[in-house]
Amino acid sequence: MSYLLDENKIFEEVLELIRRTSTDLADDVQASLKKAMSNENPGSVAENTLGKILDNVELARQNSTPICQDTGTNIYYVSIPCGVSMRRIEEIINCATITATKKAYLRPNAVDSITGINSGDNTGIMAPQIHFEEWDRSAIQIKLMLKGGGSENVSGQYTLPNSKIGAGRDLDGVYKCIIDAVSNAQGLGCSSGIIGVGIGGDRASGMKWAKKQLFRKMDDINENPELAKLEDRLFSDLNELGIGPMGFGGKSTVLGVKIGALHRLPASFFVSIAYMCWANRRRETTIELENE
Ligand code: SF4
Repeated sequence: MSYLLDENKIFEEVLELIRRTSTDLADDVQASLKKAMSNENPGSVAENTLGKILDNVELARQNSTPICQDTGTNIYYVSIPCGVSMRRIEEIINCATITATKKAYLRPNAVDSITGINSGDNTGIMAPQIHFEEWDRSAIQIKLMLKGGGSENVSGQYTLPNSKIGAGRDLDGVYKCIIDAVSNAQGLGCSSGIIGVGIGGDRASGMKWAKKQLFRKMDDINENPELAKLEDRLFSDLNELGIGPMGFGGKSTVLGVKIGALHRLPASFFVSIAYMCWANRRRETTIELENE
């Protein structure tokens, strides 16, 4: 089947998606920040810090300015029907990225790793990063995540078994990895964080899966009952660590834990942890298509 592609419309949709993702924190993330603030002791540094974060979220929305100066790595997950050109969609996303950078919705964030030269417009090799998949609907769905550098720096990957933290190849081992990663971060990566986890896969697919979990609604419940139980346990135990928002101490070290699992090789058991800062900037848009 072939489709009529209104390229101008798709460009405008992507540009608006970038603007909203950068400047307008999703309601469910904002609600989780408010809930975390209400759990902190009145007058505490933690309560104050979350209050400042929430003020900043409102100001960014009102002024249509970035929620944080680091507008992060631009990561897209795009679903297209059979017959739509991936290359064409990639070109449109690149054009929208360049325009969004000119409009200051995005900071120029793509640096050549050899020369150190910034491309100035957020495009480059694997920048933006676009993951495509084919689906059955006559529509294009574009999901965007802006992943801040500080939070990426404290993300990581464990190989099980791991004798250093006493973690075996089971869900208890996964639990130990996540506790270890968040303890090591000590608020760096701008807590209160949201922890996306990919169990299994290989090193690349596990991390991709971990990041995909961050698109889940903050208050959803994992469809897998064992993972749902593990998410609940980790949410309570991580918030007992006392690290708190921005590492200032408090009860809100994390806002959520989202875990997914992939099949793996018998020889490998990876636990990929995508630490996301409180600025969990992710949004999506769906563009319905007409047949040619
Ligand atoms: S980790 Fe997140 S909140 Fe912190 S500076 Fe980076 S983008 Fe901003």
